[in-house]
Amino acid sequence: MSGAALEPQATIGILGGGQLGRMLALAAARLGLKCHVLAPSPDSPAFEVVHRVTCADYNDTEALDRFAADVDVVTYEFENVPAETATFLAARVPVLPDPKILATTQDRLAEKTFVGGLGIGTAAFAAVGQPAELAAALAHIGRPAVLKTRRYGYDGKGQATIRNGTDPEAAWREVGGQPCILEAYVPFEREVSVVAARGTDGNVECFDVTENEHRDHILKVSRVPAALSKAASQEARRVAEVIAQKFGYVGVLAVELFVLRGGALLVNEIAPRVHNSGHWTLDGASVSQFEQHIRAVAGWPLGKPIRHGRVEMINLIGEEVADYRRWLSVPGACVHLYGKAAVRPGRKMGHVTRVFAE
Ligand code: AMP
Repeated sequence: MSGAALEPQATIGILGGGQLGRMLALAAARLGLKCHVLAPSPDSPAFEVVHRVTCADYNDTEALDRFAADVDVVTYEFENVPAETATFLAARVPVLPDPKILATTQDRLAEKTFVGGLGIGTAAFAAVGQPAELAAALAHIGRPAVLKTRRYGYDGKGQATIRNGTDPEAAWREVGGQPCILEAYVPFEREVSVVAARGTDGNVECFDVTENEHRDHILKVSRVPAALSKAASQEARRVAEVIAQKFGYVGVLAVELFVLRGGALLVNEIAPRVHNSGHWTLDGASVSQFEQHIRAVAGWPLGKPIRHGRVEMINLIGEEVADYRRWLSVPGACVHLYGKAAVRPGRKMGHVTRVFAE
C-alpha cells in the first residue's frame, strides 16, 4: 500500500521503542504529527514521549491489527523488524521504507551482493554456511579476515577476527555457529558514514560526511566534516544516493564506509534507519535526520540541510551517563539523555553535541 501526503494531526506508527524512536517522535511532535509506538518492552524510552503506545511482541497479530487501524503510515527505528511483521502491516497500511528492503539489509551476504552489483566496492567476501566451508573461504579471502554472522550483528556482536594463529573453528564457535560471511580485513585509515534521506518524490538529500571513532566496537565520537578530500566526500555522497535510489527508498538511511589510504572507499554496511552517526544533526544542522525521516514518510518535501559549523557528537555509554552534570555546564554543549533507567556496560544512555565555528 502507498499513501498520500499526511496532514498535520495524522499519526505515524513506529516499530521499535529505543532512543531512535524517541527522537523520531520528538521530531514528529514539532511538526504537529502524532506518533504511536509499538515495542515489546514496557520500559521503552520512546513510550514516554508519544501520544499512544502498544506494548506487544512483533508477532502479536491482534495487537498489530489494532496498531495498523490507528495509524496513517508505519515506519521503523531498527532494522531487525521480523519480515512477517512488516508484511502483515503492509497489507493494512503503508509501510515505509518498503519492507522488501529489510530482506537485503538484514542479511550481510545479500547486502554486500547488492552493493557489489551496483559497481560499488566492498571488502572481498565469501559465504560460509557451515564449518566445512571455512577452509576454502579462508584460502580465497586470505588472513587476516573477519567472520561475521549473516544476521543480527550490531556493535561488533557476532564477529570474530581470524589472524595468522587463529583456529578458524574457534572463530566459528565464537560467533555462535550460524551462517556467516567471511570478509577480508580492511586496513582502513578512517571510518565515515553518510546519512541520506529520500523523499516520496525521489529527491535525495545527504548530510555532510561524518567521521566515526569507535571504542570496543561501539560508536564513541562522530565529527563533521570528515577529514576527506572533496573528491572522496563527493564519492561517498554519490554512493549513498545510488543506494537510496536503487532501493526506491523512502526515509533516512545510513551508509557506513571504510576509507583507505589514498581515499578509496569501501561500503561496510547499510542501516535502513536513522543512525547514531547522524545525531549531530539535531543541534548542528538546520534540519535533523529525525525530521528528514518524518518528512519523508509523511510524504512531505525534504529539507535542504545547512550545517551550523564544525560539529562533534560524543556518546554517553554505560556509566559515562553520570557525566551529564558536568556536560550541562560546558558552554555550548547540548545534552541529550534517553531516559533509560538501567545503566549497563555498552548501553547507549545519551549523547552530547558541540558546535564550533568553522
Ligand atoms: P560492523 O558490525 O560490520 O559495522 O562492524 C563493526 C566494526 O568492526 C566496524 O565499524 C569496523 O571498525 C570493524 N570492522 C568490521 N568489518 C571489518 C573489516 N572487514 N575489516 C576491518 N575492520 C572491520
